[in-house]
Amino acid sequence: MSDIFNFSNTMINWYHKHGRKKLPWQINKNIYKTWISEIMLQQTQVKTVIPYFKKFIKKFPNFKTLSKSSLDEILFIWSGLGFYNRAKNIYKTAQIIKRKYKNKIPKEFNTLIKFPGIGKSTAGALLSLTYNYYFPILDGNIKRVLRNFYNLKIKKTKLEKKIWKKLNLLIPIHNAQKFNQSMMDLGKKICKPKNPLCNICPLKKKCLFFINKKSITKKKDIKKKKKTIKKCWFLLKTYKNFYFLKKQKYNIWKNLYYFPIYFKKIKLKKKLKKEKITKKNKKIKPFLHQFNKYSLLIKTIIIKVKKKKYLKKKNGIWCNFFKMKEIGTPSPIKKIIKKYIKIIKKNNKKIK
Ligand code: SF4
Repeated sequence: MSDIFNFSNTMINWYHKHGRKKLPWQINKNIYKTWISEIMLQQTQVKTVIPYFKKFIKKFPNFKTLSKSSLDEILFIWSGLGFYNRAKNIYKTAQIIKRKYKNKIPKEFNTLIKFPGIGKSTAGALLSLTYNYYFPILDGNIKRVLRNFYNLKIKKTKLEKKIWKKLNLLIPIHNAQKFNQSMMDLGKKICKPKNPLCNICPLKKKCLFFINKKSITKKKDIKKKKKTIKKCWFLLKTYKNFYFLKKQKYNIWKNLYYFPIYFKKIKLKKKLKKEKITKKNKKIKPFLHQFNKYSLLIKTIIIKVKKKKYLKKKNGIWCNFFKMKEIGTPSPIKKIIKKYIKIIKKNNKKIK
């Protein structure tokens, strides 16, 4: 019992000196800001999230403004952050809360975990970080700290269960907020995946990893597999404006707007032949876009079409790059637009 007491006390003392207290979602904290930040932080690092969070709160400063917005408006702000399902979950959750909970985010754990994108850990984060309620959080940083501290070498499936049990014993009843934050901060700043800074860690005296000097984390670093490279071609159709399509078959960008995409050159050639397109312009240099599991080599083909009607389809829209509409677009599309604008400016030409 005294060990448990020491663990949480040690962590909270460390938090007072070294913890993060001025992140944008920690200032004038409320459950709405905590919710948005926690969803953004799923699979994304703090420093990447910060500008997106600020932009999001500027556009949707409170729950009411969010609940009145469309999915397209949310995706527009989210564009570039990736993992777009998270934005869709925010939209769905906002609609449920508007309909069933009179625009008030519930404070009950069992209600929160039923909302899209909110699991046990996120619900715990919402309640403990906002209201100091007695719930633990288990994110990647906390998992690493406890896996190292107890030197747990068990299968992934059993590991999570075991760590939840440990967390339930360690979390102090009256100080869940600081404890959870301290654990996340320690994982981020000290107990890093590569080369943890054990010498300055407040837990080192009792940490089995440190005591045994055995690297659990290093084992994971053994030669990472090289990512496979996939190719794709975007067809940039211009007729005064540019043609964007929604609802194509590329699932990771579902509900976003992007240029017609081809993964096989033969299909692209057939399309160009079918549409009797002759004028081509390949000035945009191919570039690589990294996903978690593979890289995408992106080539852009710019073509001019004669009639707007000719290529207009359901789910398609025409946009001016210089006055973009508020639509959600994935980051490679943003890059293409930037590159195109750069070329135009360089050549001092007007878009026709
Ligand atoms: S002593 Fe090292 S391995 Fe153990 S918790 Fe601290 S940083 Fe992590």
